[in-house]
Amino acid sequence: SPGFKVAVLGAAGGIGQPLAMLMKINPLVSVLHLYDVVNTPGVTADISHMDTNAVVRGFLGQQQLEDALTGMDIVIIPAGVPRKPGMTRDDLFNINAGIVKTLCEGIAKCCPKAIVNLISNPVNSTVPIAAEVFKKVGTYDPKRLLGVTMLDVVRANTFVAEVLGLDPREVDVPVVGGHAGVTILPLLSQVKPSCSLTPTEIDYLTDRIQNGGTEVVEAKTGAGSATLSMAYAAAKFADACLRGLRGDAGVIECAYVASTVTELPFFASKVRLGRAGIEEIYSLGPLNEYERAGLEKAKKELAGSIQKGVSFVRK
Ligand code: ADP
Repeated sequence: SPGFKVAVLGAAGGIGQPLAMLMKINPLVSVLHLYDVVNTPGVTADISHMDTNAVVRGFLGQQQLEDALTGMDIVIIPAGVPRKPGMTRDDLFNINAGIVKTLCEGIAKCCPKAIVNLISNPVNSTVPIAAEVFKKVGTYDPKRLLGVTMLDVVRANTFVAEVLGLDPREVDVPVVGGHAGVTILPLLSQVKPSCSLTPTEIDYLTDRIQNGGTEVVEAKTGAGSATLSMAYAAAKFADACLRGLRGDAGVIECAYVASTVTELPFFASKVRLGRAGIEEIYSLGPLNEYERAGLEKAKKELAGSIQKGVSFVRK
């Protein structure tokens, strides 16, 4: 069976560690590279004892980034820094934007054909940043750059299943737009299996899906944000990318990608994954009045976030 080479950048972090563990379990992975600026020897030694197929190698610090990336088929990026006391949102943006820029420069140099799964927040801006970096170097392929919004879908499936009294594995909720607050737009009129939710349920579900991140931050009382469910979602998304690379038919997931579905240059919607990465981007389908209003709100905020990312690289 084919094996793919996968790198996790930021592998020692709150998301990175459980994500690395889940990728080590994935039978489609033959080689797993774990890169971080701290603690990768320990994480790598630990994970390498799991009796699964993938060969695990650790890479520590800037000098080893190029070795970590060379030959990779998929690069998953949860690298970033948490917000510390006294740090503004803009400070955090600038640091994470700089990290994503550096890592993408490495990808452009060492594995320009790799599929990139970007998790580092704010995804609405870091995906445009990655695109600008790749454009500058001349390696940009919009089919291979995906912002991971799977956690929004995972939450939507879970919360909708709970309301409907169904098994979440049987529920499919398209979530489009972006990956923050009001840009997260669950299309509850398109839930499968088809169902009729009341206006109260729609308000409750939309709010809970959009603020799922805050729910976790508050429950963790200062100890961080979603890491385990994010790692699960990222591993589920990477598995879909791997099945696409293998040539499986009908692999369809939501992701934040370069898009002409709306007038915005980036937008999350359902995409079909294949050997080339994104092989088809699906339009949003019929929206009801509630969703059309949500879409306008989402687009307004998304436009600013995209511009902010583009300006960071062009400045
Ligand atoms: P999260 O909960 O989002 O995973 P963490 O702070 O726990 O946040 O994890 C982020 C990880 O990213 C940390 O292990 C950190 O060392 C790593 N990191 C920070 N800067 C870089 C960088 N330039 N390259 C790779 N990894 C980085």
